[in-house]
Amino acid sequence: MNKVFLKKDPNEISEYIASEISEYLEYIGDTEGGMDDPALIVDYLTLIVYYLVKCRPRNDHNIDSICKLMGASYFDDGRRAPFWAIITEVSTAYKNDPVFADGGNLENEITNTDIDQCFKFIEYEVIFVDDDDEQDAHLGMISVCKVKYNRSTQPPRLSKERLNIGKGRDMVYRQRFKKFLETMTPESIKAYLDRFVVGQDETKRILSTAVYNHYLRLANPEAKLIKTNILMIGPTGSGKTEMIRRISNLVNVPVVVTDFSGIVATPWKGRNKEEALTTLYERAGRDLEMAQSGIVFCDEFDKIVPSKRYSRGGDINDELQGQLLGMLEGTELDVPVGGSSVIRMDTSNILFVCAGAFEGLDKIVEKDIGRSGIGFGSEVRKTEAFQLSRDNLDQKHLIKYGMKPELAGRLHSVGVLSKLTKEQLKCILTDSEDNVIVRYENEFREEDDVKLTFTDEALDVIIEKVLSMDIGARGLNSVIHDILKVPLFEVPSDRNIREVKVTGAAARGEDKPEYSY
Ligand code: ADP
Repeated sequence: MNKVFLKKDPNEISEYIASEISEYLEYIGDTEGGMDDPALIVDYLTLIVYYLVKCRPRNDHNIDSICKLMGASYFDDGRRAPFWAIITEVSTAYKNDPVFADGGNLENEITNTDIDQCFKFIEYEVIFVDDDDEQDAHLGMISVCKVKYNRSTQPPRLSKERLNIGKGRDMVYRQRFKKFLETMTPESIKAYLDRFVVGQDETKRILSTAVYNHYLRLANPEAKLIKTNILMIGPTGSGKTEMIRRISNLVNVPVVVTDFSGIVATPWKGRNKEEALTTLYERAGRDLEMAQSGIVFCDEFDKIVPSKRYSRGGDINDELQGQLLGMLEGTELDVPVGGSSVIRMDTSNILFVCAGAFEGLDKIVEKDIGRSGIGFGSEVRKTEAFQLSRDNLDQKHLIKYGMKPELAGRLHSVGVLSKLTKEQLKCILTDSEDNVIVRYENEFREEDDVKLTFTDEALDVIIEKVLSMDIGARGLNSVIHDILKVPLFEVPSDRNIREVKVTGAAARGEDKPEYSY
């Protein structure tokens, strides 16, 4: 449930809660203690989570913060409940926000029984907290919240036995994975990525299929389906990490990103490959089984491959690559989990997504093709800049680059991302969901009630600046931040400003953005 706080969009929050609730209802069966009106409870919890994320961004967000607001929602002898007073206040401040506007109506619909049913659902969510102390703390908080506000309720007697904690966890997880497969296909996963990631179609397809297959394996462990680890090759700022970041919001298994640039072979002193697994274990709430079902994104993976440019002691890298074979394929490793504690982790069901820029690989391929290419192809090459792609890249090129043949063989699926074009950068800037401009527009609107606009000329200037930096879409944020740094500083102190307009001159840095009052 804590994962819901990673979502900012109310529809996504609501979808997530709905899926957790339907899993819960399935788990308890249609028996006593279910929910009279699950849809109402989804709306109610969405309102709570959305309120926390949007209005209390700096607070700690977790199951306990949900419980506190649930406790504050109980009605007591006709007295108005504190939570609903908060919502009335917030709906005035955010009068155009439909979630808060509709949220007020829930006050008339929700009953103390609904809230009690909701607490039962949260108790179920606590089953998945592996750390005993943490679990006890949550159960304690649930008791406190129920007693503090709902005086008509007897102090609840919660016990781990009643919650069936520890029993049937396998089954619950299996259900979770099956549910994902019921609602998702490789196509729908890709469609989700399409909302945020521009271009890179082929790699989005490969990643979506790999994630889907990952779930197939998890839901059907007895079938022993083949695991497909993937390799993404693409220039900096082309969307490799962005894809995995978006996937992590979609899936209900832990996902971690580990920078492999400084990793050294175990047991050499320094950062070892096990670090990725330690982080995965932490991200899974120290739940070993969940961690063993997770996804690891190995960023800067090219840095472990010795080549002329990156060599910093070929022997260590060679040894590291050898060790990675086992981890990627599936082996048991001793993973440090704090202090001197170590747990044994099986990596057979972990999906590894390796990614890197592999600078210079294109030259290897170009040279190879140039040597063997004949006729029509070589004519084309003379006029067009060479583009690395999945069609011209072969395992032998990765081996030539310095990758051990066995390792190249373990990375079953390779996606090549292309450098983003001018049109694609513009699309990222203005059309993709949750784009940089929308984020700044929201910031100005929500903090200061100011409208932020960009002229077409300004957008063109921004794109040109970003192109010249040659760091892909990574440059968008820094360029725009630089242009907006003056208004970001000045606008909060002038309440009369209604609009900030970024003109071409402002984008070029010749003038500051125009204010209107
Ligand atoms: P890298 O390929 O080096 O991992 P990232 O995925 O981290 O690059 O991209 C950096 C930033 O640029 C991201 O936060 C994202 O906002 C933006 N970005 C990069 N590529 C794309 C893309 N294809 N579509 C949408 N946004 C992108």
